[in-house]
Amino acid sequence: MKRKAVFFDRDGIVNFRIVGEYINQKDNFHFIPDFFQVFSRLKELGYLVILVSNQKGVGKGLMTLEELKQINEFMIQELYERTGESFDDVFYCTDANEEISPRLKPNPGMIIEAIEKWNIESSLSWIVGDSSKDILAGKRAGIKTILVGLADESLNIEPDVSVNNLLEILELFE
Ligand SMILES: [Mg+2]
Repeated sequence: MKRKAVFFDRDGIVNFRIVGEYINQKDNFHFIPDFFQVFSRLKELGYLVILVSNQKGVGKGLMTLEELKQINEFMIQELYERTGESFDDVFYCTDANEEISPRLKPNPGMIIEAIEKWNIESSLSWIVGDSSKDILAGKRAGIKTILVGLADESLNIEPDVSVNNLLEILELFE
């Protein structure tokens, strides 16, 4: 049987974004407290919960793959301590250029990989993000889209659902 999934963007959704900067060490990685509750509820409801994150800083040489791995380990450990659960899968794209990378959001490559790997039913699945790149990637992958807050770019992209804060999305998953 096919599974349902919720894909999460990382910076600005799981952890606070630092405007104009890359999260390049774990001291810069601070969870958004509401995320724990949303994550736990979705796991309870039987969703696969999968992270899909652009980390262009690596491709641009502004941080190393090793630094990204250390931040990822910190995130996974902290999430487990707080919720007793883990992401079902974590995808990063470290490419710097969306024109040539099929995986870098707004391109749908990471989501499509996950759909194939986990036998996911796209019509029952969602992406949650804070940028129009997340919304566009979700649309291109054929899943439903939730924008949290105001997108930082003025592209003309309509998410399926728009919310002011993360906790509001729980109403969609009762
Ligand atoms: Mg983001």
